[in-house]
Amino acid sequence: MTFQQLGLSEALLNAVAEQGYTTPTPVQQKTIPLILEGKDILAGAQTGTGKTASFTLPLLQLLAEDIDLHQMPRRVRALILTPTRELAQQVYESVQTYGKYLPLQSEVIVGGASVSVQRRNLRRGCDIVVATPGRLMDHVMQRHVNLSSIQILVLDEADRMLDMGFLPDIRRIMGLIPKQRQSLLFSATVASGVKQLAVQLLNNPISVDIAKQNATADNVSEKVYGIDREYKRELLSYLIGSNNWQQVLVFVRTKHGADRLEKQLISDGIRTAALHGDKTQGARNKALDAFKTGKVAVLVATDIAARGLDIDDLPHVVNFDLPQTPEDYVHRIGRTGRAGASGIAISLVCPEEAYALSELESFLKRQIPRVADTGYEPVSLKVMDAPKKHLPNKTTGKKDFRHTKKPSSKTQKSGSEPRKPQRAPRRGSKRP
Ligand code: AMP
Repeated sequence: MTFQQLGLSEALLNAVAEQGYTTPTPVQQKTIPLILEGKDILAGAQTGTGKTASFTLPLLQLLAEDIDLHQMPRRVRALILTPTRELAQQVYESVQTYGKYLPLQSEVIVGGASVSVQRRNLRRGCDIVVATPGRLMDHVMQRHVNLSSIQILVLDEADRMLDMGFLPDIRRIMGLIPKQRQSLLFSATVASGVKQLAVQLLNNPISVDIAKQNATADNVSEKVYGIDREYKRELLSYLIGSNNWQQVLVFVRTKHGADRLEKQLISDGIRTAALHGDKTQGARNKALDAFKTGKVAVLVATDIAARGLDIDDLPHVVNFDLPQTPEDYVHRIGRTGRAGASGIAISLVCPEEAYALSELESFLKRQIPRVADTGYEPVSLKVMDAPKKHLPNKTTGKKDFRHTKKPSSKTQKSGSEPRKPQRAPRRGSKRP
């Protein structure tokens, strides 16, 4: 199938061709014609599948077909809500890229940026607003923007919005926009909360399921390295240095952990930046830009970066810590292997995370391949794989977490001292 066959206008086809896209992705093939017909959509689309274009292209077309160039200032006719500022910025850039040959105005409204500049831009008028819910509500309350002319509403990464507690804001926004509208809901995982939201938001929706729920991209090669917590950083430096990796997104659980690892990697001679929610928006943008443009080789990030980030050909993702939830794992590793490219996703798992690993694997319904040959003592792979660790104890009925503890010296090979990790080599050096 070609983009022409989807019924897109010449202006959009030209913009798409300039991006070098030749074939629509499966989510684009399924959703674009339906959206052009005016249908409401509930799309469960795997991350990195081209879903942004799948709603942006038809949305631009519908707005352009119905434009009144004499209407001044422009009324906001399409609203795209996203959970994070970075995703909003990225979607906004897609709107600009695909809409470059159309006479449509768009604005991005996110927290951490100047309210007065946004107010001025909103008052000037625009056709499309891409926003995070909190900051949009601030502008609505101060009457900087009027949502009564919305014709198309898009909720991107709806599951994440619910996780982040945006449901009250979404409900308030729904109360302010016309009931007669087209609504599109995109979510990587369609769990029960998203289904409930869909019932309230959508009118006779068509469900489009692109990937198996909870699936990870097929072209991402996943590996687990078993390693004691205190040696994770050295192993990471070693992997980056010995393989000469140039672009690695490293996920950690905490903001403090991100700052600490950033400093440690820099002291290992690795160009590194950190991205987390305690940084100002300026610092977040700077870190992301440095990573995208190759000024730094490593971006250490909390889960704020797990959704939405689209970095062309990102080859490596490392889970320095396993995430809080299995769903976050799917999102984190979805940062690589996007749009058909291949990627490597590595998880450094210490004995204390054995339970989280087994929960993750039961969620994925498969085992992630283990790499025993780390050059370090593969501390606890056997312990992590212990099959009965979560079965309820027959007498008490309680779950048995004994094996999640750090293994005692008995679990090490008899007669051998635990091998000390060598100092991690500097980047670019060959494996010893
Ligand atoms: P998304 O899932 O929207 O974040 O898109 C993931 C990546 O796929 C982005 O880098 C897009 O630029 C790219 N992309 C979107 N549509 C296509 C297409 N039809 N062919 C190739 N790449 C695409």
